[in-house]
Amino acid sequence: MHCPFCSANDTKVIDSRLVSDGHQVRRRRECLACHERFTTFESAELVMPRIIKRDGSREPFNEDKLRNGLLRSLEKRPVSVEQMELAINKLKSQLRATGERELSSEMLGNIIMEQLKQLDKVAYVRFASVYRSFEDIREFGEEIAKLGDE
Ligand SMILES: [Zn+2]
Repeated sequence: MHCPFCSANDTKVIDSRLVSDGHQVRRRRECLACHERFTTFESAELVMPRIIKRDGSREPFNEDKLRNGLLRSLEKRPVSVEQMELAINKLKSQLRATGERELSSEMLGNIIMEQLKQLDKVAYVRFASVYRSFEDIREFGEEIAKLGDE
């Protein structure tokens, strides 16, 4: 990168170390032209995919929306806030790991349901019933029956 002092092209790295638990590299650089020193930080760009809604419109992934949905499903269930936050972190890693720039809301829903299933079965069924908006009670019953099989 260009020297921030004189805009020269040539800078050399004089020191390089890992910071913030290894998630960032901090580099001390020196400009070969004016000899000023400056610091750069480098970190991996982990972008959350955008969500493609059913009507085809796109929206950014919204963590608050996800958290609210989970809170509703987990109401009065024996699941701690920490457990829920852990599930949210796992979810976010999973979303990033897809490497997709865009993901359908259906895919997102399935990933959420997989996490909820491991967290709390009742919450899972609650979420599934809202998310999939079960068309009839039979379908809902089948979903519950599947839980019993596991
Ligand atoms: Zn310079």
